[in-house]
Amino acid sequence: MTFYPTKSTNFVCLIVNDMDSATIKQEKQEILRQYRHLIEVWTTRKETKDLWDVRRAFRMAADAHKDDRRKSGEPYIYHPLAVATIAAGEMGLGRTSIIAALLHDTVEDTEITLEDVENMFGKKVARIIDGLTKIDKISEKNSTAQSATLKKIILTLSDDVRVILVKLADRLHNMRTLEFMPREKQLRIASETLFIYAPLAYRLGFFAMKSELEELSFKYSQPDIYEEIKNKMDQVKQEREQYLHHFMQPIKQTLQKQSIQFELVINVKTTYSVWKKMQRTELPFEQIYNTFSLDVIIDTSVENESLQCWAVYAAIAKIYKPNNKKLRDWMSTPKANGYEAIHTTVMGQNGRWVDVHIRSRRMQEIAQKGYAAYLKYKKNPQEEGTLDVWLNKTRELLLMDDDEEAIHFIDVFKQNLFAEEIYVFTPKGDLYTLPYGATVLDFAYAIHSDLGNHAIGANLNRRLVSIDHQLRSGDQVEIITSRIQEPTEEWFKNVVTARAKTGIKNAIKNKRKAYTDRGKEKLKEIFKQLNIDYHSQNIHKLVVASHLTSLIDFYYFIATDKITPQDIKEILKPEEKSSWFRNLHLPFIYKTNKTPKEENKTIPSNKEKPLKINELDYVVSKCCNPIPGDDVLALQIPGEPTQVHRTDCNKAIQLMSVYGRNIVKDKWKQAEGITYLAILKIDAKDKIGLVNQVTDLISLKHHLNMSSINIESKEGLAHMEIKLYVEDTNTLKKLISDLRKIKEVIKVSRVNRT
Ligand code: MN
Repeated sequence: MTFYPTKSTNFVCLIVNDMDSATIKQEKQEILRQYRHLIEVWTTRKETKDLWDVRRAFRMAADAHKDDRRKSGEPYIYHPLAVATIAAGEMGLGRTSIIAALLHDTVEDTEITLEDVENMFGKKVARIIDGLTKIDKISEKNSTAQSATLKKIILTLSDDVRVILVKLADRLHNMRTLEFMPREKQLRIASETLFIYAPLAYRLGFFAMKSELEELSFKYSQPDIYEEIKNKMDQVKQEREQYLHHFMQPIKQTLQKQSIQFELVINVKTTYSVWKKMQRTELPFEQIYNTFSLDVIIDTSVENESLQCWAVYAAIAKIYKPNNKKLRDWMSTPKANGYEAIHTTVMGQNGRWVDVHIRSRRMQEIAQKGYAAYLKYKKNPQEEGTLDVWLNKTRELLLMDDDEEAIHFIDVFKQNLFAEEIYVFTPKGDLYTLPYGATVLDFAYAIHSDLGNHAIGANLNRRLVSIDHQLRSGDQVEIITSRIQEPTEEWFKNVVTARAKTGIKNAIKNKRKAYTDRGKEKLKEIFKQLNIDYHSQNIHKLVVASHLTSLIDFYYFIATDKITPQDIKEILKPEEKSSWFRNLHLPFIYKTNKTPKEENKTIPSNKEKPLKINELDYVVSKCCNPIPGDDVLALQIPGEPTQVHRTDCNKAIQLMSVYGRNIVKDKWKQAEGITYLAILKIDAKDKIGLVNQVTDLISLKHHLNMSSINIESKEGLAHMEIKLYVEDTNTLKKLISDLRKIKEVIKVSRVNRT
């Protein structure tokens, strides 16, 4: 009997002799069957040498994992085989990715080393596996910040995009087999998938994969809602099929008459997207008709495809009346991830709107296999496609960024991932893709940081607009610059893209850097005057007390007299009373009992790194407006005040997936005399004097301050929304119960958002 020690705890080690030989034989056959299937679905270059290499990788992996089993009890090699099959079949990847997929867990979990892999398959494969191993280690063990994971992923992505592609295949298979994981791991993996991997799959153009990842995440994170919607969708299945049968009949006949080669595919929406739509529209399931769409896929040559697609559109528009507002031409302007198609919505039988997507076989392949298909069809490899542009932008941004700003960057980057896109043109007609909400300044920085730094406005469709003007899709923008213009802190308010923010920050930093020597000189002089030692500990005290994050800013403020000798005296010689220190506190931070002295203890005296704001400072989140007494969680991001969210806040759930371990679930101790915003919704029978009765109760009986009151009266019913300030949930509960005692009041509830 042999026992093979393993490095990982991801799987259990079973002793081979205990299994009966029939089972082992069956498993061996199954492994070979899966391997043959992998070779079958592999469609790219498959010469003898390629086949031979893949076979060697398979042998090596099978041998290395031979005593390992998955949580499901199956032989471990099923997993790398499945990942390789997804990479080859569903993503259309080739030799190198297949080999990397087969070996992706060997370095982390078995005796095989990176050198072994390099000796057998060369540097390229070894580097991809190194990247994959690192990503795993970071998301498994590193406790500092999960958002750093994303940064690492992106960094490796710019090194070799296949790292991310194989990682996506790995994650998809892990999601497909998630049922065998313990519940808490399911939740962590599901939220990571929803917020990091599904958007990445989307960005790289793997739509089918993105939908499946979302669907599986949804299934494991919200099983009850998932089941409910799924059952309802099953119930309407037959009716839907009958309807579509009638709907498709005339389209089929017409297209056949025009001798167009086509295929009609019915796309049923995922439960996740139906749920999203229910949330977005606030409609119940029964009122959401479009749980499907129709794809018309045309077989034609690349030269004829756009003509044929429009011919099909014209034919369908003759049969069913299209909604002109919903026509989207992704053919002449593809999405940033390369997606092309015509989208239209037409009025079908019984007045039902049906979404129809028209595209060629080539576009269909790009929609399914994304990046790989995109490369395959790229006419001129020299010419930069939108995907390359995106990759380049990401890389550039990462190179510019300091490490400490990773978290902020990820925030901004994620906003960009989720946001809808707008398309803006230069005067010459060059196309730029920007997130929704982007301004003239964002556009200027997208073209060049120099253009951004000197922008004073823009000529927009022959109209002059300012730099904070929000752009819309289709705008043609000519940036107007001035040599004397320069970025200020104010500019951050005018931009949404990470690129513009980085550009502004760098410009300000560079300008301030020029003041460093002057600031140092001045500080030395002041220290001398005040008879204070010039050493780093004293300087750090000053930086902390003035809530700055960098020495560059600090010296700039010294040089420009924004921090005066009087200020310095009050911080370093606190025996003389100070009023200045309090004023420097950011206005939205509630001050705590910590004295400046205690703060100083946390400063490392030997390292010159940016310092944290007092960790007991906190801000109350606007997204859910928690008040003392609520179930809350505190989120600590280094260098930022702690955020307090209600545990059921959507934003908090999203943040948990990013900052995982920085969450502290804590009792919220109430600070005296501080009140918090709460929102109440009241439905009542309308009668004269009702509003007075309600406001009297709030302000006279309960002595609470209201910040606003909104009343809508319709058909004898009054709907009120009242914003008021309370100290805690108890106060609020008492008020609600008193409000309910008013005869006309039907319903009182607390609203989460502002
Ligand atoms: Mn794996």
